[in-house]
Amino acid sequence: MTAKLEFERVSKRFGNRMVADDISFTVDQGEFFVILGPSGEGKSTLLRMIAGIEPVDAGTIRIDGRDVTDLAPHLRNVAMVFQNYALYPNMTVYQNIAFPLKMKFFSREEIEPKVRDVAKTLGITEILDRRVHQISGGQQQRVALARAIVRSPSIFLLDEPLSNLDARVRFGARAELKKIQRDLGQTFLFVTHDQKEAESLSDRTGVLHLGRFEQIGAFHEIYERPLSRWVGDFVGDFPMNFLPEASGDGELGFRTEWIEVGDGPYSAVVEVAERQGDVVSLLCRGPAGRRVFMTALQRPAVGETVHFRLRQSLHFAADGRLMDGGSLPSPPGPLSRGVP
Ligand code: ADP
Repeated sequence: MTAKLEFERVSKRFGNRMVADDISFTVDQGEFFVILGPSGEGKSTLLRMIAGIEPVDAGTIRIDGRDVTDLAPHLRNVAMVFQNYALYPNMTVYQNIAFPLKMKFFSREEIEPKVRDVAKTLGITEILDRRVHQISGGQQQRVALARAIVRSPSIFLLDEPLSNLDARVRFGARAELKKIQRDLGQTFLFVTHDQKEAESLSDRTGVLHLGRFEQIGAFHEIYERPLSRWVGDFVGDFPMNFLPEASGDGELGFRTEWIEVGDGPYSAVVEVAERQGDVVSLLCRGPAGRRVFMTALQRPAVGETVHFRLRQSLHFAADGRLMDGGSLPSPPGPLSRGVP
């Protein structure tokens, strides 16, 4: 696979806030790459730098091997889909999708088949004559995608495009978006703070924190083997649990599902017990007063002591980095994928 997008030592700051700190990574042709991080970490700024609407302070951005760092946005051939879709409310769906082609001076005859074609792919042919304010959030999301697809961009940049959908339709919308990306075979860069989206959509996820990728990899790798305490804590329905090492050197990190409740060397006092489907989620106060999330089949009483053992655990050094042969990419070399 060829690298479609390359960041080489890119930096960006707003005042004294470093939002990109010497970032190098590549995204492959046809890859679905998710940039995951809490809000305010600089995810949108990364996308805007790729689109050319935010200048970089230092470093190089390449698309298809071409240096685009100082190129005007309309010469980069990237399409951006925003959280609020940025559709034109007074235009019809058809006019919205046709708009970027009109701006490129395509003729009516050229535009029509392109719009109809993409509308068919996204299942929105029936609503082409409706105005944007007359259609649902899910349909607006498809129209925004259609408007991006019709331009045949080299890269799609998607900034939290699913977060305005309500929870019930989001599940279906994720599957649909993944299918669209597969069918197109195009490179997608997708920004989100929602790890469910990273898990279900990404080929690889990059976890952004303090202007750097703390970790880049398949989502399950990041979940199972976070390279830092911060990633372990951030990624997961439950944060990773941490207990001080008996030796006093660093910490043991473990996921909820690595705990066997029943007996074992550890004990914790139940503070909250909540049934969720077949299991009971427990928030407990464990050794050294540490918070431990676990699940059990039976609901224990609040205040009850539960005993547990660990089937698996990771060791983190005092500075929060994974030991066990793992290490953080610091700093990633030029063009490295950020994976040690
Ligand atoms: P995210 O997408 O992860 O929520 P953003 O890229 O939107 O984060 O913003 C990262 C940080 O940079 C935030 O603290 C934000 O307030 C700041 N920021 C973003 N754009 C600007 C700007 N044009 N001027 C000054 N600060 C900005």
